[in-house]
Amino acid sequence: MAILPIIQPDNPILRKKAHKVQTFDDKFQTLVDDMIETLIDAPGVGLAAPQVAVSQRLIIVRLPDDEESQQEFGEEAGKLYVVANPEIVKASKDMVEGVEACLSIPGYFGKVDRHEKITIKGLDREGKPIRIKAQDWQARVFQHEIDHLDGRLYIDIASEVWRGEPQEDEETEVS
Ligand code: ZN
Repeated sequence: MAILPIIQPDNPILRKKAHKVQTFDDKFQTLVDDMIETLIDAPGVGLAAPQVAVSQRLIIVRLPDDEESQQEFGEEAGKLYVVANPEIVKASKDMVEGVEACLSIPGYFGKVDRHEKITIKGLDREGKPIRIKAQDWQARVFQHEIDHLDGRLYIDIASEVWRGEPQEDEETEVS
């Protein structure tokens, strides 16, 4: 396994619409393993393949069980989702505002409106169909990652972007 460099917005790959994953071969499995290692090392809660300069529709989401395990980011903490070709098939009308950050835009934070609840359809790392229901900040992480696959960054849709520490009493997701 290897830790991959995370690219920043000056790299055009981050702004491209990524290609669908077609094969679930050894090369793809290595990419998945490397992305997991990169996400744990960062540390972050989500990573999309374009962030490591691979223009494929693949996201890794690591949701901690609670805030404590989020801090520690131990190998076993939380639940890990590997989703190829993810699609949002259902989204609540209700939107919630929250603070986000992005591993590709270090040092910045922004306020973004996201659907409160979503249902995602996609394929697991073996290519088998999966369906995931997410709400609140988990839904936020998935929406942030899926946006990456279309070349969209949270700063494009944020109502406010700032540098430095997150505002008090607000959760921040780095993905
Ligand atoms: Zn991001």
